[in-house]
Amino acid sequence: MTIMDFKVTRNQNPTPISERDAILANPVFGAKLTDHQVVVVWEKDRGWNSAEVIPYGPIMMDPSSAVLHYGQEIFEGIKAYRHQDGSIWTFRPEANAKRLQRSAHRMALPELPTEVFIESLRQLIEVDGDWVPAPEGEKTLYFRPFEIAAENFLGVRAAQRVEYRVIASPVGPYFTGGLKPVAIWIALDSARAGKHGTGEAKTGGNYAASLLAQSEGLENGCSQVMFLDAESATYIEELGGMNLFFVYKDGHVVTPALDGTILRGITRDSLITLLRDRGIEVQERKVTLDEVRSGVKSDEIVEVFACGTAAVITPVGIFKSEQEEIVIGGNEPGQLTAQMRQELTGIQYGTVPDRHNWMLKLAD
Ligand SMILES: *Cc1c(COP(=O)(O)O)cnc(C)c1O
Repeated sequence: MTIMDFKVTRNQNPTPISERDAILANPVFGAKLTDHQVVVVWEKDRGWNSAEVIPYGPIMMDPSSAVLHYGQEIFEGIKAYRHQDGSIWTFRPEANAKRLQRSAHRMALPELPTEVFIESLRQLIEVDGDWVPAPEGEKTLYFRPFEIAAENFLGVRAAQRVEYRVIASPVGPYFTGGLKPVAIWIALDSARAGKHGTGEAKTGGNYAASLLAQSEGLENGCSQVMFLDAESATYIEELGGMNLFFVYKDGHVVTPALDGTILRGITRDSLITLLRDRGIEVQERKVTLDEVRSGVKSDEIVEVFACGTAAVITPVGIFKSEQEEIVIGGNEPGQLTAQMRQELTGIQYGTVPDRHNWMLKLAD
């Protein structure tokens, strides 16, 4: 038996269809999970083994399990889209598989082979395909693949037993209110990642480090936080879970360069490609908060948007701190922002040609 042979144990007590239909009619991000989960185990002396699809349910864990103490964990976020003909697709899964491997390397976790990652999504769709919502109102099924250090041992070293799991949740728009611009809190006394740290890894610790500033932002009417570089608090890096783009009046677009502290967003990478396809110049470089402040004031910067799998593309209307409020484009969604959002979601839902072969069919 290879690790690609998934043993499937069906949930004998699945969510009643009427209840599932009600959830799919109005899904709340991450609130309800499907009926199954994937588990693949890794042991130092055996490698990856025991690939299974099992009923969704709690993880039995020893209180000494390493992940609970030292935070050795990584995750991914990727969606399944239903097309008009009923088929189910996903977007650039090799890119997510690669990123999971990079995150694993940084966090001293084992690298899951790309084929196993993609097969794990297929396997979950095989049993939970009915959980992928109809293609309307930006509904999708959000996969959350993750790896955790699952060895019972309080000593400090890389775990010798690890679990890879995939769970899934039907989701609607991440930010309710459609293409309404969001307000962003500028974290002035809190950083999420430093040089040679874990900023490029998709790991829970980065999120834990962002939550205090996130709470402060929420208290100040902001839905997300923007982090600056840890060393000088001068350069714009990214939001707690999204990358940033700045659109200039003369037509070019700027996004902070990947310098080891910024997460390598797959939406970011896709948008750079789509923008360049349109003949738009995209600069990946350092951007200071000062440049953005004065650029917005002088109308040099006309649009700002944030991007990520969960929220796709979201216009940024305001950057805010205790000292200031920077209002972009009259707090209205920008034209390019709306166009790029339409193009990207169009590719994902199969209504815009997929020129770059980004879509992979998971089920007919
Ligand atoms: C996941 C994530 C993103 C967005 O990445 P996508 O691949 O586009 O979903 C951006 N920043 C952080 C910190 C993230 O964790």
